[in-house]
Amino acid sequence: MIAQEIRSLHEQLRGSGARLVAVSKFHPVEALREAYDAGQRLFGESRVQELLEKIPQMPADVSWHFIGHLQTNKVRPLIGRVALIESVDSLRLLDIIDRESLRAGITTRILMQLHVAAEQTKTGFTPAELLDYFRSRRFESLKATHICGLMGMATNTDDTARIRADFHAIRATRDEILTLCPDLRGFDTISMGMSGDWPIAVEEGSTLVRIGTRIFGRRQY
Ligand SMILES: *Cc1c(COP(=O)(O)O)cnc(C)c1O
Repeated sequence: MIAQEIRSLHEQLRGSGARLVAVSKFHPVEALREAYDAGQRLFGESRVQELLEKIPQMPADVSWHFIGHLQTNKVRPLIGRVALIESVDSLRLLDIIDRESLRAGITTRILMQLHVAAEQTKTGFTPAELLDYFRSRRFESLKATHICGLMGMATNTDDTARIRADFHAIRATRDEILTLCPDLRGFDTISMGMSGDWPIAVEEGSTLVRIGTRIFGRRQY
């Protein structure tokens, strides 16, 4: 099942410009190995402790993305362990990531999480907050962090027009930021799309889809 889903998703994403992040949170390492054996090399996890336990149990050529809400006191153990932190949702968190990366002597790649969905429970910057941040060029003070783009989620709804509008808003915010700061380098990642809505996200310009349930089945919390 897992291997079949991985192959099918790789097939469907071929030529789309989007890569697959297999979201393996709450699933055992055996499930990740099945995905690995089917060719998957990029995994997404949302809890620091769980991620740190899984890393040594998987082959070294796996890349990891952190996609969950990151508490500032969990930043230090994460630095240097992941290819991308997708879920930076506050400037305070960004500052701490920068400080800890500088301390570790490495550059951390991050995405800023954008809140466009209807649910209040979802975290992230509003488009206006992000545009302010880039307009004021505060990113220039970062010493050891590279902002690679944006991550966002659509409203959890069956209304595909609303889903498409949310993804469109994420893409439009990315484009506006690039218009404000045409000299931004490597600001090219748009992480959007999950099990239920990824085809719409790809149509709207996603470069990373984060898919869990469709590959691994339901999570046992
Ligand atoms: C859990 C999670 C996903 C995967 O969601 P599915 O519906 O299981 O595909 C994607 N993105 C984020 C940020 C998540 O926390």
